[in-house]
Amino acid sequence: MINEQNLDESIRRLRAGDRVALAQAMTLVESQLSRHQMLSQQLLDTIMPATGRAMRIGITGTPGAGKSTFLNTFGMLLVSLGKRVAVIAVDPSSPLSGGSLLGDKTRMTELARADAAFIRPVPSGGATGGISPHAGELILLCEAANYDVVIVETVGVGQSETEVAGIVDCFVSLQIGGGGDELQGIKKGIMEMADIIVINKDDGDNRAAVAIARQIYDSALAIVRHKYPQWRPAVLSCSALEKRGIEDVWQAIVHFYDVMAKSGRLQLLRQQQTVTWLRKQVEEEAMRQLYAHRAFREDFNQTLDEVKNHQQAPRTGLQHIREYLQHHYFAQ
Ligand code: GDP
Repeated sequence: MINEQNLDESIRRLRAGDRVALAQAMTLVESQLSRHQMLSQQLLDTIMPATGRAMRIGITGTPGAGKSTFLNTFGMLLVSLGKRVAVIAVDPSSPLSGGSLLGDKTRMTELARADAAFIRPVPSGGATGGISPHAGELILLCEAANYDVVIVETVGVGQSETEVAGIVDCFVSLQIGGGGDELQGIKKGIMEMADIIVINKDDGDNRAAVAIARQIYDSALAIVRHKYPQWRPAVLSCSALEKRGIEDVWQAIVHFYDVMAKSGRLQLLRQQQTVTWLRKQVEEEAMRQLYAHRAFREDFNQTLDEVKNHQQAPRTGLQHIREYLQHHYFAQ
């Protein structure tokens, strides 16, 4: 475990690409203990200048879409191209820390064995079903450990999809054809969020359904508003199992980065991500600190009750809290 005494040495090992040091740094950054949080801060401050150089890719898809199989094949392709690849696999089935299933790790067997790869299963963020608030910091750690490509993988349900989109540059949605899945995807707003849509399992009997799904996505993309004016989301298909079409996905990602970097959008995107994260944390912190005051808590709860029981209009409740805050906390 990282402590005050071995912090410098741990950072040195992390920077040298030592996977054990990286894993330990991740555990530290995810820790809730206040002494760990101080150390995390020191560690992150030190590595900051060495961050920002990786491609940050998000991959989501419903369970069974083939994410692990795809990541294994895709990751191995990148390794063969001389890239160092890190996968942060968010596991929504384990909201409590420590108990993350190793499912994803064992399913990416080849990649898990590759020297140039690192796979980290992390539990999801608990109640909201979203990802951990530290997921962005895990990306920074991977960058400091010289990984060229950092992939955040998660199941496309609940909050997690939007949250992953908020910490990566390129959002890849892995889909399958048939069974009306493409219509579900369209309803869920996949096209507004995804930079690249990949329809997996383009093999055997599935091929016709995959071709139809591609067409449906393509026509839907013609009418929805795109995330960036300079990028029309790409629709591709592949077979992760038969290892076909994977290179095209990589080429589409490279092309996306090219377009985004040239237009200056990539830099803007990363700045926005940091600002959004900090704002959200500050807002949550402000609420935490307010709630820690008993008098406020009691007053607020009473207001909530009165609004709930139709004794006052919600707007009156808001006005009451506003006056309370001004009087008790922000009086000039
Ligand atoms: P995940 O839950 O999204 O991680 O999906 P998995 O990678 O575990 O795959 C779910 C199932 O789909 C497994 O039985 C895989 O073998 C299968 N699968 C994954 N990719 C493909 C593919 O390209 N073609 C076919 N036919 N099956 C696939």
